[in-house]
Amino acid sequence: MKVIAFGYPKLGEKREFKRLLEGFWKGEISEEEFLRGMQDLNLSRAKTYSEFCDLIPSNELSYYDFMLDTALMVGMVPQRFGKYEGLKTYFEMARGKNALEMTKWFNTNYHYLVPEIESSEFKVLINKPLEEFKFFKENGFTTVPHIVGPFTFLRLSKALRKVSSELPLYEVERIESPDQFLNLSQKLAPVYAEVLRSLKEEGAKRVHLEEPAFVLDMEDWHWEAVSILYKELSKVGIDIALFTYYDSVSDYEKFVDLPVKGLHMDLVSNTDNLRNILEKGFPKDKELIAGLINGRQPWKADILEKVKVVEDISRVVDGDISVAPSCPLYHLPVTVEPEDELPEGLKERLSFAKEKLRELRLIKDAFEGKSEALEEAKRRREILRETFGENQEVRRRIASLKEEDFRRDLPYEERVKLQKDRLNLPLFPTTTIGSFPQTPEVRKMRTAYRNGKISEEEYKNFIKEKIREVIAFQEEVGLDVFVHGEFERTDMVEFFAFKMDGIATTKHGWVLSYGSRVYRPPIIYGDVSRKGPMTLEEITYAQSLTDKPVKGMLTGPVTILNWSYYREDIPKREIAYQIALALLDEVRDLEKAGIKVIQIDEPAFREGTPLKRKDWAEYFDWAVKAFRLCSKADPKTQIHTHMCYSEFNDIIEYIYQMDFDVISIEASRSKGEIISAFERFKGWDRQIGIGVYDIHSPAVPTKEEMKIVMERAMKVLPKELLWVNPDCGLKTRRWEEVRPALKNMVEMARELREEV
Ligand code: GLN
Ligand code: ZN
Repeated sequence: MKVIAFGYPKLGEKREFKRLLEGFWKGEISEEEFLRGMQDLNLSRAKTYSEFCDLIPSNELSYYDFMLDTALMVGMVPQRFGKYEGLKTYFEMARGKNALEMTKWFNTNYHYLVPEIESSEFKVLINKPLEEFKFFKENGFTTVPHIVGPFTFLRLSKALRKVSSELPLYEVERIESPDQFLNLSQKLAPVYAEVLRSLKEEGAKRVHLEEPAFVLDMEDWHWEAVSILYKELSKVGIDIALFTYYDSVSDYEKFVDLPVKGLHMDLVSNTDNLRNILEKGFPKDKELIAGLINGRQPWKADILEKVKVVEDISRVVDGDISVAPSCPLYHLPVTVEPEDELPEGLKERLSFAKEKLRELRLIKDAFEGKSEALEEAKRRREILRETFGENQEVRRRIASLKEEDFRRDLPYEERVKLQKDRLNLPLFPTTTIGSFPQTPEVRKMRTAYRNGKISEEEYKNFIKEKIREVIAFQEEVGLDVFVHGEFERTDMVEFFAFKMDGIATTKHGWVLSYGSRVYRPPIIYGDVSRKGPMTLEEITYAQSLTDKPVKGMLTGPVTILNWSYYREDIPKREIAYQIALALLDEVRDLEKAGIKVIQIDEPAFREGTPLKRKDWAEYFDWAVKAFRLCSKADPKTQIHTHMCYSEFNDIIEYIYQMDFDVISIEASRSKGEIISAFERFKGWDRQIGIGVYDIHSPAVPTKEEMKIVMERAMKVLPKELLWVNPDCGLKTRRWEEVRPALKNMVEMARELREEV
């Protein structure tokens, strides 16, 4: 039995990766220093792996993103970047002005760069797997290269496609045409084969191809492509193992039949893979790499239970069995060691990436009957079986929920009249999404407060001053519905995590989200409730300064859940309802204090969508209900939600079921896709703020540009439903950009009111 791990976080225990990368971007360190630093980091990773594992992966430390590296490996540099000239081009593709599009990696919070295939002329351009293999060899490590497999590469890429028969019009799109996909597979296969061959010649015994795309819904022509690809690769004569994760493989029989040596399957995200192995058996001549340790969640595993699974498997599997994490470990922070301020009893239950490596070793040792490992596994089971984090009152509240708790007291047609009378807003009401610039001053004060350099009172006074300024600004430009600016918040999820019981935050638990961007996911470890009012003080203060309505500003239950770690012994639905009830308490407090409009942000609503269609109904059932539960406000309170993406086409029915009064969404960058979603949806009656400008860009939008978005929207939606707002919060922008942009936006709305 081998211990195999992969995807160990590249960030480093002290965020060395981030420092190197940003230092290099800022010109503080030279290219040579940068590369040397990355090599050191790589070697220290190999050392960590070798302490616990039997194989050491290589080609894992990407300078930005592994999909970008794979695109470069097969020579896909879009024409606009010119000839590839090393790191300069590399970072232009990653983060330059015309960078590749970035999107979510499967159902995780990691973002990858979407490769663009402009021509099928694949060729080996940057053979990073080989370079790294050699580098490690020179340093005394025999490694196993991990490479994104060709099928996953193609499925997640975009390719140039003729979109008009008359005009010479091409666009890059996901490859949804079987012919194109098969054709590209044919061209790609020999290029991958060449890389594998080069590795074999250098002495590599095996390669691990990461193919998580096998867990997506598969069409027959996908399997045809897979067959083309793997027939070619199997001819190279190097041992290949395929790694699949985040869900079960879509067609077990076909998958285990592929002409490769080893198969990794995720045995924790659901039970399908394990059931299939036990019921249908596993090919004799293949190695099963059992993804037993959860790479997505930070909980310690019950080792005895895992050993039992290995025993069950070994009864039906004749070939080698290896133990592995269920998926790459980069969804976890590096180590729990430095966390010394966690709620009592939590640290003993946590296991981050480094601790997971140890767990894999423990499984192996316990399976082989080593007494020390067995003793430890027993002690651990005792701790894990003690009840932890329970709150009976919360449980009672959940148990007593009734149908009507998920339904507002009046239907929308009735509510809207009450709200209209109360708010008295003009046609095309103007507002913003919530945050205003988080200036260096704001960040400095927060750090000073956290480090005890200024008192709570000083900090609160500072926040109040900022609120006064932002209210005065909104009066001056003449917006209709105000916000308080969110100056007291760093991160929209972590802020609420600080204020709730049952959710812990870490000090050093950073995880890479993309490039050098890191975040600290909170840990939902127990039943969730509100410690006390969470936003009341700032919102009511803001409201006391103006006669215009100020929006109460909350992060929704689905987003808090999707951007945190959570317990797996409590159904996700229940956790979502617990968070929703805590938020509902806040909604009630805000209403009592006279707040008339409340926005509940759900930017992560869509990304929680399961990978397979068959699981969608169940997800949306609880996600929609959780939102409805927390937004069961008085009928005269106007409930807003906000989502910052525009792929609504396939989920618009579910969005509608959330039963908000107003939604604000992104549209300025999408090419009319959003409009078509509303065109298809019959009977859309909710108010909607289509983002009239892109807050991701520093450019100040003109009135004309913004008017175009409104005119487009008016073609498919009644004008009475339309709001005017930017497409997301303004926290990353500077005041110099925000001031003129909002001024133009408000003027545009005024002119439009005159015109229609
Ligand atoms: N209210 C939040 C803000 O304006 C929303 C952020 C988001 O959608 N990601 O910053
Ligand atoms: Zn947003």
